[in-house]
Amino acid sequence: MKLSEISYYQTGGTCDLLTSPGSVQELADLMSRIHADQTPYFLLGAGSNSLVMDDHWPGIVVMFDQLKGLTTIDHQVIAEAGVSNTQLAEHCLVPGLSGAEWMYYLPGQLGATVRMNARCYGGEISGIVKTVTTVTQDGQIRQYDNKGIFLGYKDTIFMTNREVVASVVLTLKPGEPEEIRKQMDTCRKDREQKHQFVHPSCGCVFKNDYTAGVPSGLLLDKAGVREFSTDQVEISPWHANFLFNRGASARQILETALNMREAVYEMFGVWLAFEMEILGSVPKDLKTRLLESREPQLHESEIAPLRILFLSNQ
Ligand SMILES: Cc1cc2nc3c(=O)[nH]c(=O)nc-3n(C[C@H](O)[C@H](O)[C@H](O)COP(=O)(O)OP(=O)(O)OC[C@H]3O[C@@H](n4cnc5c(N)ncnc54)[C@H](O)[C@@H]3O)c2cc1C
Repeated sequence: MKLSEISYYQTGGTCDLLTSPGSVQELADLMSRIHADQTPYFLLGAGSNSLVMDDHWPGIVVMFDQLKGLTTIDHQVIAEAGVSNTQLAEHCLVPGLSGAEWMYYLPGQLGATVRMNARCYGGEISGIVKTVTTVTQDGQIRQYDNKGIFLGYKDTIFMTNREVVASVVLTLKPGEPEEIRKQMDTCRKDREQKHQFVHPSCGCVFKNDYTAGVPSGLLLDKAGVREFSTDQVEISPWHANFLFNRGASARQILETALNMREAVYEMFGVWLAFEMEILGSVPKDLKTRLLESREPQLHESEIAPLRILFLSNQ
């Protein structure tokens, strides 16, 4: 089976072994074996923030489809890593628990959502997490409380220590189901109106760069990146930070993204950071370009009018 058949972005080649542990202990045992055998591996949630590369992956891909436990005790929800964001929001609606409305129709699973501190519509996962259970790379089970794990905008300690998020306890507040439903529907409708689901994507390819003070989508738009669109890879007509897969290989998508980053640097002197995660084997020529880092050299005369434009549209 090709990973393109299961990854949200519909890219990815084959792998040696695709596995889904059935419990946190099984996940820990698996990580311990992977560590002992030094087997290459990567983690794949729903794949909605990832570009899985085309070449065969000579190792293990760990998925979370069997870690879907979801229970409520008073105002707390205990959820395993493979629970989808939408499923979690729907689960909270029934007993009238508020705080997860923003997760409705946010693609992906809770494990990855915690790992990257996902956010939207005024919500951020750091705001409702009470504790996180992880599995270390060598298979130990660890527990964290909320303090010290979230490092700000789309950043957590798990992105560097590479621990696997296994389950999470969330604290919510009592709310009116009708009001919760309304807010969930507002989030869904907004995404649909922005045409986010017309073709597979991984959401925003690049993070916002707050030193520039202008969203990356606007920088990309004004840098004219849509000229890079082809029949297979389309830069969304509605949001220049979204790259649609219309039958492309991962290589084609990554090359387009690298060209987009280059164009923004040329015009604005901003070196955008990838939000899209690259999983699997990256061809050598692209790896060199991917790992390249450039000092910001903000072209103030080009950026200042965009700041005004952005603020006037707020
Ligand atoms: C249409 C669209 C809109 C989006 N809008 C937003 C938005 O508004 N805000 C936002 O923040 N994001 C947005 N995203 C991105 C995406 O929804 C989130 O990043 C989501 O949390 C990804 O979950 P996933 O399971 O698909 O992660 P994946 O893509 O599978 O994985 C992402 C990374 O996490 C790692 N990983 C996966 N599972 C685990 C785990 N259990 N423990 C540790 N690491 C793990 C993977 O190895 C990879 O490095 C959007 C995506 C799409 C397609």
